[in-house]
Amino acid sequence: MRIVLLGAPGAGKGTQAKFICEKYNIPHISTGDMVRAAVSKGSELGKQVKGYIDKGELVPDSTIIDLIKERLKEDDCKFGFLLDGFPRTIAQAEALDVLLDELTLKLTCVLDFDVPKEVLLERILKRASKSGGEKRSDDNEEIIEKRIKVYTEQTLPLSAYYKDKGLLKTVKAGTLDVLEVKEMIFKLL
Ligand code: AMP
Repeated sequence: MRIVLLGAPGAGKGTQAKFICEKYNIPHISTGDMVRAAVSKGSELGKQVKGYIDKGELVPDSTIIDLIKERLKEDDCKFGFLLDGFPRTIAQAEALDVLLDELTLKLTCVLDFDVPKEVLLERILKRASKSGGEKRSDDNEEIIEKRIKVYTEQTLPLSAYYKDKGLLKTVKAGTLDVLEVKEMIFKLL
């Protein structure tokens, strides 16, 4: 299984990614987790990307594409992988196509999470107010609005991109709860 998850911030991608990766025994590759880890470590990459993350903007394509190029060549990706939060722009999707061609691999499908904006906002704010766990620097109302706008402008066009390739499967998550969405996804896969 080689799966891409598409969907706005707060759509539930991370939660569902865990269920899918457990079932199919594939690595969960989240570019958001990768860049946050770099920031926590204080690495050179972390220093480069922190400003973008804190403002709710996308990190430059070339930086993220380089990260993914390295990651997909690792051994644990041999039998499949799930990409969560990548690609986020048409340029990233095109770079992924080139990379997969080089590796003679094809995507199995792209799951596109369809969730109304009100639900997204409510969920992220809830996540931000939860005690315990690490609080994300970009989970506050102003930045969330920005992240949703960036998603609409730069990432939403990917639905049409993958639909044209016959890879898109829409997850009509709406206001359904986590387990209902999980069941829906397992039926789609
Ligand atoms: P996420 O956890 O996927 O919501 O990502 C958090 C932040 O990391 C985003 O707001 C971006 O600043 C950065 N980021 C994660 N993935 C990408 C990507 N594919 N392209 C550009 N920036 C990204």
